[in-house]
Formats: sequence, structure tokens, C-alpha cells
Amino acid sequence: MAKRILFLFSDTGGGHRAATNAIIEALHMEYPDTFDTQMVDFLRYYSPSPLRYSPELYPPLSRLKKAWKFSYEAANGPKRSRALNQLTYPYLRRSAERLIAENPADLIVSVHPLANAVIPRAMRANPVPFITVVTDMVTTHAFWYSPGADLIIVPTDQAKNRGIRLGLPPDMIQVVGQPVSPRFAMVDESKEDLRRELGWTSPRPVVLLVGGGDGMGPVRRVARALNDAAAPVTLAVICGRNEDLFKDLSRLKWKIPHHVYGFTSQMPRLMKAADIFVTKAGPGAISEAFICGLPIVMYACLPGQEEGNVDYVLDGKAGMWAPSPEAVVDAIQHLVLDPAAREQTASSSSKLARPDAAREIARVLARQLGQ
Ligand code: UDP
Repeated sequence: MAKRILFLFSDTGGGHRAATNAIIEALHMEYPDTFDTQMVDFLRYYSPSPLRYSPELYPPLSRLKKAWKFSYEAANGPKRSRALNQLTYPYLRRSAERLIAENPADLIVSVHPLANAVIPRAMRANPVPFITVVTDMVTTHAFWYSPGADLIIVPTDQAKNRGIRLGLPPDMIQVVGQPVSPRFAMVDESKEDLRRELGWTSPRPVVLLVGGGDGMGPVRRVARALNDAAAPVTLAVICGRNEDLFKDLSRLKWKIPHHVYGFTSQMPRLMKAADIFVTKAGPGAISEAFICGLPIVMYACLPGQEEGNVDYVLDGKAGMWAPSPEAVVDAIQHLVLDPAAREQTASSSSKLARPDAAREIARVLARQLGQ
């Protein structure tokens, strides 16, 4: 019988689902018909109230920057995180036990910070291997690093060092890279062909603007500012699941060539066809941009977990920090008017790419199951 791998994620943003899908895609590519994989949004289906509303609460709460930062930092240390895990265990235990009983598996992979303390503890009587895949890049929360895990896979050296500083043994943490769909490295059409297929007919450079899976962040204001400034670009905007944003931008009086999309499964083709990527500093979006060799203009970041991503991009000279719509317009003007700078930034971005990370993670998981 096929060995069963259970992935624990939650739709708090689009990144945990995207990373989980990427690993599952890679597993099925590397080991066809070998594993039975299953994804469970453990916060939505196996958490008591109000935690189970996390996917709905994430977009509005993350807009309250100060409160978000405060709650993020409140448990972001070795002692504080342990104390909070201890305190909340009685409240979470039953749901965790039900999750384990209803989803038997040979290996559990957590792709979310909130599963790592409670699940290993809840299966103490009958444990199966538990591997955490950290999907934040640099400023990683203490909740990612549970001593109850068998292995912790991280995207960067900085994330590994953070785990060591929190008291974990170095050989428990393996640096592999951010899991990104293998499809990003498999688009083999030329930029020209992709643009023709997408109907991007203007010869202007194409700016691809995204706001995370939920269309979060000030995407609307950034799009309007680029339009008001009549920036010399074609603008393609991805609204994700944010339907109001989609409606609003579809109705805008546009002065520049534009294309507005809702949630798309075509990110690899859209990114390969674009010239400049404008995004909030989400780890998935940034890692995908590295693979597509795109200069990255970041207009916002979540306090706490995404702050380090901004420095990572800036240190690698792969993009610019532009925390207001006006700053985005300036950054775009700079990159459009100075093609050499744009090329240099694009090449630095490519150097940070880890296109095989998902496949490498798949191999680690398979080895754990004796393949
Ligand atoms: N994404 C997608 N389709 C969309 C919008 C976003 O597939 O229409 C994906 C995007 O490619 C990335 C993920 O959603 O992989 C967003 O993850 P990120 O870590 O950048 O931000 P989050 O949404 O988790 O805050």
C-alpha cells in the first residue's frame, strides 16, 4: 500500500497552500504513484474557536500593523513560545488528537508555524515522523522551531541560524530553499510567445503587480498611482481572491495598457512574461521572482515575519523597497529609464533562485519513508 504523507497547512495568506502544493507536485514528479498525499487546513477544520476562523481573520488582522507586530513578538522567543505552547495545549489537545485519529499517516509534514508544538505532543502515544518545512525566509517566528520535530527544513542560512539561537541542534535543521512549484522552472516558451498568448501586445515593459494570495496590501493605490503618473509601462495586476479589488480595477479609467486578473493558477507563465515584479514582501512571491529573474519592487511587508525578506532582497541587490505608491512609481520609472540597472537587478535576482527546492524537499521526505 502507498505510504501516506499528511501535510498540515492553513489558508492564512496564499503562501502556505502554494508551498504545500509545490512539495506535493514535486513528490508526484519524482516518485510517480508512490505516495498518497493529503492536505489539511488544520486551523480551519481541527482547531477550536476562534482559531478556526484564522483564514478569514488573517487579511483584516494583518492590516492592523501595530497589533500584528505586538502579537507576533509577544511569543517570539524561546521561553515565551514554550510558555504559550504549554498554556494553550489543554485548549488545543482535543482537536489535535481528532486530527491525528481521522487522518492516519506514515509521515506528517507541517507547513505552518502553529502546528509544530501541538501535533508532535498530541501523538506522543503513537508517534510518526514529523517534519517541519519553514516557509518564512529570514525573520522566522520561534513557533516554527519545535524540539518535537524530527527535522526542520528551512529556506536560508539565516533561518537555520535562528533555529540554532533558539536552542535546536544544528543537525536538526537543513537548509534547502523555499518550496516553489517546479512549474516555475519548466516554462520553456519564449517571453515573446508568452506575451502573444496572453494578449500583452504593447511593446512597453510589463510590470506585474500582485498582493499575495488574498490580494492583500495597498494594491489598489499602487495601481492607481502608476495609472495617474501615466507610467511608461503595461500594467498586469493580479487581484488574487480579492473580488472587490478586481471589480474596482476593472472599472478604473485606465490611461496605460493594462490587464486585470482575479486568482490565477498561471503565475509561472505570467511571471516569465513580465519584466518587473511589484509585490508585498511575501516569501513565495519573492522566491518565484528569483526563479523568473525579475527585479522586485516591494511596496509593503507584514511586520515581523516579512521584514527580513525585504533585507534579503536588498542585500542580494535583487530589488527595491518602495513603501508608498509614490515610491513605487519612482522605482518603476528608474528601472524603465535605466535598462542597464534593470538588467543588473534581474541578474542579481536570478542568483538567489533555488528552483529545485521543492524537488529536494520531496527527496528528503521520501528518504524518511525509506525510498
Ligand atoms: N498566487 C497564485 N495566484 C494568485 C495570487 C497568488 O498562485 O492569483 C500565489 C503566488 O504565486 C504565491 C502565493 O500565492 O506562491 C502567495 O504567497 P506569498 O508567500 O507571496 O504571500 P501570502 O499570500 O502567503 O501572504
